[in-house]
Amino acid sequence: MKRIYLDHAATTPLDPEVIAHMSALMAEVTGNPSSIHAEGRRARTVIEEARARVARLLNASIGEIFFTSGGTESSNMVLKTAHRDRGIRRFISSPTEHHCVLHTLQRLGREPDTEVLWLQTDAHGSPDLSQLETLLAHSPTPTLVSLMHANNETGALLDLERAGRICRAHGALFHSDTVQTMGYFPFDLEALPIDMMTGSGHKFYGPKGCGFVYIRGGTLDQPLMDGGSQERNMRAGTENVYGISGLALALSLAYEHLESRQSQTRAVRAHLLQRLTEEFPEITVHSPSPDHCHYKVLNVSFPPSPRSEFLVMNLDISGISVSGGSACSSGTEKGSHVLEAIGMEADRKAVRFSFSHKNTIAEADRVIDALIKAFKKD
Ligand code: PLP
Repeated sequence: MKRIYLDHAATTPLDPEVIAHMSALMAEVTGNPSSIHAEGRRARTVIEEARARVARLLNASIGEIFFTSGGTESSNMVLKTAHRDRGIRRFISSPTEHHCVLHTLQRLGREPDTEVLWLQTDAHGSPDLSQLETLLAHSPTPTLVSLMHANNETGALLDLERAGRICRAHGALFHSDTVQTMGYFPFDLEALPIDMMTGSGHKFYGPKGCGFVYIRGGTLDQPLMDGGSQERNMRAGTENVYGISGLALALSLAYEHLESRQSQTRAVRAHLLQRLTEEFPEITVHSPSPDHCHYKVLNVSFPPSPRSEFLVMNLDISGISVSGGSACSSGTEKGSHVLEAIGMEADRKAVRFSFSHKNTIAEADRVIDALIKAFKKD
């Protein structure tokens, strides 16, 4: 029987159109984009076309998009260079951030004269923006606020507009890890009060190991890594030409089909949630209500029992791929810092279902059947 993949917050499969596009480029484009001969110029054109495409989709300027190896590098770059080169000595963030922000800020917090403040979060992992406002109002220290747009474990959505306006009003820089929402929600970066945000190709049916960072004109102007002058001196190293072009195509397809992808994903998610609550009234839903949640994520937990112990593994055996925590630690059975921060009891078993537009209602029903089997319910 065909496997059911419900771990799209961890990664998505490549769109077949992206595979075809990248395969053709791999055969055709051979030069180093920094070379001045014809082969080099061809590779350079591929990158600049991709940059223009990404900038157009987000209503940003071409000079504000820098390609990187993904979300982790992009967030490291922003936070570390803001500290090193912009004199930022105070960071405000949330304990439910992805490790690429959390661990970076924990490291920066050990630097001299540097303070990192963590906002309180609600039961779904959403940070308290009133507390943010209070903290920003009471200090003149140059501050950078880093808050993710959608939590990768619970799906909790941040009101980006409101968070950005608060930061602007108090002169703080605002960075958002938008890795989970890029390609799933529209962005108008000319209008949105945000200084830096990040994208990762493999979350929207593009290639792995390729992402980008948006940096509002001139906010940061020094690279994290030293080396060549690629990406207008902001990101050294020969560019991932095929990945960059594949990412841009994947993002373009994501926005072109946004509405149909969104409605199919929402329908399957809503169906699974309804059936879960009917069949398993004992579950706790950790994701917020649909208006405040990423439509691709549904996180629930089951009370402790010998049958919930190996739930993720049992579903895998039944041909269903889900995650027991965040993607980054899935497979390790290491506790999730997000579920801990939102106060989930340690002995409950959480399952994160994360959907795509390719999932179906019939698949959701098969998940319920497999869960009923796992719990041996009559
Ligand atoms: N930020 C979030 C919210 C994520 O979910 C992930 C990936 O799991 C990342 C950042 C890291 O992105 P990448 O895998 O491109 O380094």
